[in-house]
Amino acid sequence: MFTTHTDSSFRITFTYGGIKIDKEGHALTPDNTKIPGLLVAGVDAGGFSNVGYAGGLALAFVTGFWAAREIAKDLKLPLPELPPADPKDVAIVSIKGRL
Ligand SMILES: Cc1cc2nc3c(=O)[nH]c(=O)nc-3n(C[C@H](O)[C@H](O)[C@H](O)COP(=O)(O)OP(=O)(O)OC[C@H]3O[C@@H](n4cnc5c(N)ncnc54)[C@H](O)[C@@H]3O)c2cc1C
Repeated sequence: MFTTHTDSSFRITFTYGGIKIDKEGHALTPDNTKIPGLLVAGVDAGGFSNVGYAGGLALAFVTGFWAAREIAKDLKLPLPELPPADPKDVAIVSIKGRL
């Protein structure tokens, strides 16, 4: 008979919560005031997984892009652009029922 043994244990993927940000990646105070010069992205950005796990890599990409645009604006560099999405590739998933 063939048997396998796998050692496994729990690990942290990332913690929920984090620093509240706006859609430009600026850190916000509890009363939604921008904190000058503080951009937050990726796993440190809070508020995205409040209704469930939204995917860490996609969040890092999107919020990292927001922050990169703000840095480019500050440095007066050309703004990075995303290629247009092909409608065939876009899956629309409603989360209305979960909110
Ligand atoms: C085991 C595991 C499995 C996962 N699986 C998935 C998955 O299947 N799908 C998914 O979407 N997400 C997954 N995630 C989550 C995802 O990997 C993270 O949410 C994502 O990588 C966060 O990106 P980030 O850029 O915010 O941080 P990180 O990817 O952690 O990047 C931070 C970087 O900063 C560097 N750094 C830290 N301190 C300093 C310093 N002082 N100076 C310079 N550099 C510094 C680090 O070395 C690191 O390279 C997984 C995570 C883990 C741990």
